[in-house]
Formats: sequence, structure tokens, C-alpha cells
Amino acid sequence: MIVLIDNGHGGLINGEYTTPGKRKDWGANGIIYEGEFNRAIVAGIVEQLTLLKIPYVNIAPEYRDVRLETRVKRANKYPARKSFYLSIHSNAGGGHGSEVFTSPGNTKSDKIATIFGNEYENEFPNKKLRTDFSDGDLDKERRFYVLTKTKMPAILTENFFMDNFEEFMEILNTREGRQRIINYHVKAIIRVRVEVFDV
Ligand SMILES: [Zn+2]
Repeated sequence: MIVLIDNGHGGLINGEYTTPGKRKDWGANGIIYEGEFNRAIVAGIVEQLTLLKIPYVNIAPEYRDVRLETRVKRANKYPARKSFYLSIHSNAGGGHGSEVFTSPGNTKSDKIATIFGNEYENEFPNKKLRTDFSDGDLDKERRFYVLTKTKMPAILTENFFMDNFEEFMEILNTREGRQRIINYHVKAIIRVRVEVFDV
């Protein structure tokens, strides 16, 4: 099993954020750039997967905002049956908690998403899991490009809300909070390897 890990959006180059929007400025309390956050989570996952000897590919190691088409093209070079795509994001738009999205109609994706949802709830028992992905209800599956165009099972995690002050202060902008997000992803990947890919 190869985990294809996608850090949504671009990073910072010479102090300049390479993606329009996708940030929240909390003034004296700090600022969050989604692409920087996503890269930090991916870096933490990659570090642990290396130690665990679980194969992975960092789909967009660049700091620039790699096009979605390019990300999918890179992913689709890997065998569909032996890999899954994991896209990391943080939400905005008013709300709280986290979501796990899946590629529509792919049952393997649903299995994987359920495991990620379980591990999220284990790590954050007092936080909300927003998506009931287990009931197959199509209106809760968004047609995200990376989910519909990748040929392997694919999921996308939206980790809390950048524009929720409590979640920003408590989780998204703290080392401990970021580590907990990394940890639930890694625990889920370990389970997916055994329970879905049988290796
Ligand atoms: Zn995003």
C-alpha cells in the first residue's frame, strides 16, 4: 500500500503566500495560511510513516501551488489497487469541527473514510465530526476535483475551521494541536493498511 499525500494549496515563498484567499488573519493573535498548515500536517505524517516503513508519496513537495490537474496526474501513475489518495485541508466559512470527504461511489474510499472518522473521534472526543459519510448519502459527498479524478480510492480531510477563533487558538495554531491532527491521520493509515489493503 502506498499513501499518496496531498497538501492542499500553495505554501509561502519568500514570505509571500502563493494562494489567493485560504487564510485567516487574527491580528495580534496571529495568522493562518491554509497551505502552510496543510504542509505542516503532511510533514508530520511523512515523518511518522518513514519511521513505520509505510510507503508514501508526497504528491506536491513544492512550496508553489501545484495545479490540481498536476496533482492528479502524479497520483494516477501509481497502481489504483495498491494506493490511496489522502488530501489534507482546513476549513473556513463559519462552523466548527472536521469533515472527511470521499470520492463518490467508491466503496473502498468509504471504508477508508470511516476509519479516519473513527480515529478523529478517538483523538478529539469533544469535537464535532461534521460529515456522516457512512450512510452513503450522496449530497454529503462534494465533487472535489482530486476525489473525482483520481483513479484510486481517495479521501479529503477538512481539519477544523481557520475562521473559528477557538479552534484556531486551541488546535490549528498550536504545536500540540497540529501533532494531534497528525496522530489521528497516522493511526488511521496504520489501520487502513491492515483493514482495507490487507498488508
Ligand atoms: Zn483547502
